Amino acid sequence: MTDTSALQIAIIGGGPAGLMAAEVLSQAGLSVDLYDAMPSVGRKFLLAGVGGMNITHSEAAEAFLSRYGERRDAIAPLLADFDAGALREWIHGLGIETFVGSSGRVFPRDMKAAPLLRAWLKRLREAGVALHTRHRWLGWNDNGDLRLATPNGERRVRADAVLLALGGGSWARLGSDGAWVPLLEERGVVIAPLQPSNCGFEVAGWSPLFRDKFAGAPLKHVAIRLDDEEPRQGEFVITATGVEGSLIYALSARTRQRIAETGSAILYLDLLPRHSPEKIAAALARPRGSRSMAKHLHSQLGIDGVKAGLLRELTPAETFADNTRLAAAIKALPLRLEHPRPLDEAISSAGGVPFEALDSNLMLRALPGVFCAGEMLDWEAPTGGYLLTACFASGRAAGLGMLDWLRERR
Ligand SMILES: Cc1cc2nc3c(=O)[nH]c(=O)nc-3n(C[C@H](O)[C@H](O)[C@H](O)COP(=O)(O)OP(=O)(O)OC[C@H]3O[C@@H](n4cnc5c(N)ncnc54)[C@H](O)[C@@H]3O)c2cc1C
Repeated sequence: MTDTSALQIAIIGGGPAGLMAAEVLSQAGLSVDLYDAMPSVGRKFLLAGVGGMNITHSEAAEAFLSRYGERRDAIAPLLADFDAGALREWIHGLGIETFVGSSGRVFPRDMKAAPLLRAWLKRLREAGVALHTRHRWLGWNDNGDLRLATPNGERRVRADAVLLALGGGSWARLGSDGAWVPLLEERGVVIAPLQPSNCGFEVAGWSPLFRDKFAGAPLKHVAIRLDDEEPRQGEFVITATGVEGSLIYALSARTRQRIAETGSAILYLDLLPRHSPEKIAAALARPRGSRSMAKHLHSQLGIDGVKAGLLRELTPAETFADNTRLAAAIKALPLRLEHPRPLDEAISSAGGVPFEALDSNLMLRALPGVFCAGEMLDWEAPTGGYLLTACFASGRAAGLGMLDWLRERR
């Protein structure tokens, strides 16, 4: 094997992708310096642990891969080397147990990210990885050196190979602010615009009454679909401007694309997924005497609170006089979405460095010696652990790709 130990490797970005690349490269005996703009690394990773860190998913490989949609074929080789099972083994190797939740999602035993990150950083430091926080990458100077803004002024760093793992563009206050986009564009890399993924959406405007009463209210045990797709069951939340939550995020890629194509997207909401329209119409047809329609809907079908409010909000008054039409509305309430919420609020970003701009080592064709990994690559996936899994796997693949490239050159 050729000697690569004298080489200087710079990794920029200390999220899961950059840290995984640092692990692979330091294990191979390379001298690794990792730079991050923030005062500490892994801030988004830690945030992901706040509501319960869903690190990967236990479903079968083909179903897992299908979550990457149009980018399935680009992600497949990354996961072939480091899939959900390998990721779990790796976590266990850090002394952190994992478990599979009822939905098939995989979590660390204590649901948290902090113990995992602590153990990992300790191992990386012991392996010789030098972490440089408060080092913001500004691009390259004319000599090809990296420009890094530090509290003590600008530093110039010469590296034999560079790995960028700068994240997407959401939650900028945690470090991934997308400021890298023009830096690569200036060097001839065509970047797909960063867009919100796993995000909330805005409606044309709730009535003030509905908004004031129901903003923040969760709709549970409902189903939604876009067009004639198979409906998905779950829950989401009414916001002051529209909707958000896991069920909405699951459809966010297609919804965002539809809005871009046609100006809006209509999601059809089923308020009673376990009831057929006939059963609903029969229940509505029962005598209601002097009771109001609201009381009738509540007593016959359990529709009340935010579900009743949304039915009123989205259904013309005359529909309430026709049981068949009302039953149809309860099964397919059209919810028109007009805009995604801003990128900064999203769980993740779509867009970024297209796979077409990279070779099989995840090296930029336009910039030999510069590799990319993680959410800054142009792929998206729903929540469910698919985001982190692809970040870890691409960090590993880019690290190994860099090793191959360095060995071939020497
Ligand atoms: C609220 C929330 C919850 C989430 N929950 C989950 C979950 O449960 N499961 C899941 O799979 N995914 C989850 N995610 C997504 C997941 O956290 C991200 O996909 C993942 O962290 C991306 O990893 P990364 O290494 O590519 O980038 P990041 O983690 O974003 O790291 C990028 C790093 O690069 C640094 N950086 C950026 N620009 C520069 C620069 N110019 N110079 C120097 N450093 C720079 C940043 O400071 C940052 O540390 C969640 C995200 C959010 C926002």
